[in-house]
Amino acid sequence: MTAAPVSSTAALTARFDAHLMPNYGTPPIALVRGEGRRVWDADGTRYLDLVAGIAVSALGHAHPALVKAVSDQVATIAHTSNLYVHEREVELAERLTALLGSDGGDTRVFFANSGTEANEAALKLVRRAAGTGRPRVVSTVDGFHGRTSGALALTGKPAIRDPFGPFGLDVVFVPYGDADALRAAVDTTCAAVFVEPTQGEAGIVEAPEGYLRAVRSICDATGAAFVLDEIQSGIGRTGRWFAHQQAGVLPDVLTLAKGLGGGLPIGACIGFGRFATAFAKGDHGSTFGGNPVSCAAALAVLATIEADALLDAVTANGDLLARGIAAAGHPLVAGVRGTGLWRGIRLTAPEAPRVQAAAAAHGFLVNAVAPDVIRIAPPLTITPGEIGEFTAALPAILRDATDEETT
Ligand SMILES: *Cc1c(COP(=O)(O)O)cnc(C)c1O
Repeated sequence: MTAAPVSSTAALTARFDAHLMPNYGTPPIALVRGEGRRVWDADGTRYLDLVAGIAVSALGHAHPALVKAVSDQVATIAHTSNLYVHEREVELAERLTALLGSDGGDTRVFFANSGTEANEAALKLVRRAAGTGRPRVVSTVDGFHGRTSGALALTGKPAIRDPFGPFGLDVVFVPYGDADALRAAVDTTCAAVFVEPTQGEAGIVEAPEGYLRAVRSICDATGAAFVLDEIQSGIGRTGRWFAHQQAGVLPDVLTLAKGLGGGLPIGACIGFGRFATAFAKGDHGSTFGGNPVSCAAALAVLATIEADALLDAVTANGDLLARGIAAAGHPLVAGVRGTGLWRGIRLTAPEAPRVQAAAAAHGFLVNAVAPDVIRIAPPLTITPGEIGEFTAALPAILRDATDEETT
């Protein structure tokens, strides 16, 4: 079953450092294979995966439905380009439209290959719809929308944004979750508001109750487009298909990626109402976007979430996870926030990297998303028993993380 690794972690990371750009630093672990919620590194160590490739591997690793869908599709036709239509992409657009509760009459989908590309499409779409009289876009402080120039211009994290400006886009940043600040910033010169339902990369930072409804009404009052970035929150992560369904609002434009392909690269920009048809022929495109293999993977993800009733499981297991974390009762834990299987463990000190390392030493992959926040975003298929393994080990992980600090 296990193919012999060709390189040890040390040997592989040395080659990585010699040949790949230093933008990721040196990854501490070399992963070789996965099965379900388990992954194995190049030295044969097994981990319980509570990161899922940053909220991507929704069905875990090597899920039979994903393997079959991708294998069958790649053996049938792997790529067509958008010069030709193929059934998987149409089926996926129909399926997403149905999940969004629309009758399809005023909903249209554009497929990209990643989250940032989905937001680039959204940015072009809202500017096309707005014409020239609305040069401004409003986004949120600490929000994350991607790394390409347009999406980066909308990203409110100075450390990753500032070295690359100016962007040639008039973006105003307002504090996240503050409806009054948003109301003050949005006027009729504003083409769009970009916002996440919960800020993922900021550390699973939730908005106050009613915030998305306020965004909706501010956009309605000014004619600005409401673009909701559900790249991290969408496709079941919160226990709903989409986080906005909990809030009871529909945006004008919705962007998706991460969990959609279950590990295959795909993004989607979905327009509602007048935004469904704001692109004219020739306005946008992608050679790989909506490729048959990624669409087949996404269809398998959606079918499995439905067939295995994973939305209910996400809610129940997410609650179990949050209770288990709270029960750790360690002074380093300030609390846990988030919804479903998308949780942030807030720490009382900026020790998240130490906690991440201590967790790995105990056989758990977790993510230090911020200096004082650990992100837990496991596959949606995680079991109560697996959650119990982690929450049982958490006190020892926290003890080791704080012990190391004093040595
Ligand atoms: C990850 C993420 C993106 C960027 O997606 P990529 O696929 O990395 O380009 C954009 N917005 C949000 C909210 C994300 O979490």
